[in-house]
Amino acid sequence: MTSFDYDLFVIGAGSGGVRAARIASNHGARVAVAEEYRVGGTCVIRGCVPKKLLAYASRFHGEFEDATGFGWTVGTPTFDWPMLIANKDREIDRLEAAYRANLQRSKVEVIAGRAVLADRHTVHLADGRTASAKTILIATGGAPNVDAKLQGRELAITSNEAFHLKTLPKRILIAGGGYIAVEFACIFAGLGVETTLIYRGAKILRGFDEDVRDDLTAAMGKRGVRIVTDRTITALAKSGDGVRATLSDGTTHDLDQVMFAIGRSPNTAALGLEAAGVKTTANGAIVVDANGRTNVDNIYAAGDVTDRVNLTPVAIREGHAIADTLFGGKPWAVNHDLIPTAVFSEPEIGTVGMTEAGARAKHGAIDIYKARFRPMKYTLSGRDERMLMKLVVDTASQRILGCHVLGPDAAEIVQMAAIAMRMGATKADFDATMALHPSAAEELVTMRDKWVASA
Ligand code: FAD
Repeated sequence: MTSFDYDLFVIGAGSGGVRAARIASNHGARVAVAEEYRVGGTCVIRGCVPKKLLAYASRFHGEFEDATGFGWTVGTPTFDWPMLIANKDREIDRLEAAYRANLQRSKVEVIAGRAVLADRHTVHLADGRTASAKTILIATGGAPNVDAKLQGRELAITSNEAFHLKTLPKRILIAGGGYIAVEFACIFAGLGVETTLIYRGAKILRGFDEDVRDDLTAAMGKRGVRIVTDRTITALAKSGDGVRATLSDGTTHDLDQVMFAIGRSPNTAALGLEAAGVKTTANGAIVVDANGRTNVDNIYAAGDVTDRVNLTPVAIREGHAIADTLFGGKPWAVNHDLIPTAVFSEPEIGTVGMTEAGARAKHGAIDIYKARFRPMKYTLSGRDERMLMKLVVDTASQRILGCHVLGPDAAEIVQMAAIAMRMGATKADFDATMALHPSAAEELVTMRDKWVASA
C-alpha cells in the first residue's frame, strides 16, 4: 500500500478550504492546507467582511440626513477614510488570527505559500518541498477580471485594491453591473465621492428580478450614483494626479480613481491541473460532480474555483460536505436550490428563489404579490424612497417560488423567508402567519391581492 504524507491536502485557506480542512481533521484525517496570501481567503480578507464594514460606514451619510426629521441637529459631519481603513484592517487581522487559531485547534498543518499540483497525489510547495496526499482538495477561489486589452489598464484598480486606498477619491468611475460594482458604487457615493457606474448592458444586476433592478436603479440615482448604461471604457490615460477615461460614446471624464468590477474568474492558471489531468471549463472553472469530485477520482474542488454559486456559505458547505463524505462516514451533497443572497447596496436587496421571469418560464402560471411603500422611518425623515416586497407564487401548488425585498434590512428579512421556503411554505402559510407590527417585513404576510399588470 502506498503511504502518503497526508490524507487530505487542501490548496487554498479560504471559506471552502478552511472548513473542509477543519472538519476532515476533526474526523481524524491528517490534513494540511496551503495558503499563498492570507488565511481566511477572499471573504474575510478582501470580500464580504471588509465590504460590509465599508457599507456600514457609508450608510451613516443617509442616517445623518434622516436624523433631522426626528429632531436632531447633526451639524456638518466629517469623515476620516484612513481611520476607517485602519480600523477595518485591525478587524481583518483579528479574524485572520481566529481562523488560524481554529485550524491549529483542529490540528491542521498550515503551510504558507503557493501549492501547485505535480501529479494526482503530489503538490509542489513554494519552499521547494513536495508533499503527497491521498486526497487533494482544490479550493483556490477566484480573482477579479481585468480588461487586459484596455489601453491604460494599469491605471485602474479592482476590489482588491479598493480596500487599501491611501486616500478617498473625490471622483470615481466604476465599471461593471454585478453586485460588487453596485455595492462599491453605493459605498463610495455614501462616503461623499462623486460616483459614476458604467455598465455595458442596458440594466444593472443581470439575473435579479426586474422590479428589483428597476427600483434599485432609481433609488441609487436619488442617492447620488450616476448610472451610465450601454457604454464601456475604451481607454484610460494619466491626467495630472488622476485618470482620464474615454468612453465608447467618445466622451472623456477626469477622475481620481477608476475601478473594474467586471466579474471574477476561477484561480486555476498555472495550478498544475494538466499535470494531474483535471478537467476545466472554457473559462478555467474546475468541473465537478454533485459531490465535488473532479474527473480525477482522488481530487476534489469546492467554492468559487468551480464557478457554480460563488458565495461564501456555499463554499463552506461544499467543503464541509466533502470532508464529511470522505472522512466522516456521513456522505451528503450540497443542495444548490433556494440560496438566499443579498446586495449590500443602499437601499439593500435580499432575494431568494426565482425571479418573476424565471418562474414564468419554468412554471407557466404564477401569481405575483407586490407592495411598494414608504418605510415608516422615512415618513418623518422625508426621504423619497420606496421599499419593495415581492412574492412569486406557483399558481398550481401555491408554493412560494421567490421572495424579493428592496429596502432597509432586506438581507435580514430574506434570510428568515428562506427558511419557510426551504420548508415548502405556500402563500396560505404566509397568510396564516401573524404580522409583527410595526415592521416592514409584516408586508410579506399581509399582501392579499394578486398583482395585475396595468395595460
Ligand atoms: P476564497 O475565499 O477565494 O479562498 C481561496 C484561497 O486560496 C485564497 O486565500 C487564495 O489566496 C488561495 N490560493 C489561491 N491559489 C492558491 C495556490 N495555488 N496555493 C495556495 N493558496 C492559493 N460572498 C457572500 O456570500 N456574501 C458577500 O457579501 C460577498 N461579498 C463579496 C465581496 C467581494 C468584494 C468579493 C470579491 C467577494 C464577495 N463574496 C461574497 C464572495 C466570497 O468571497 C466567495 O464566494 C468566497 O470567498 C469563496 O470561497 P472559496 O473558498 O471558494 O475561495
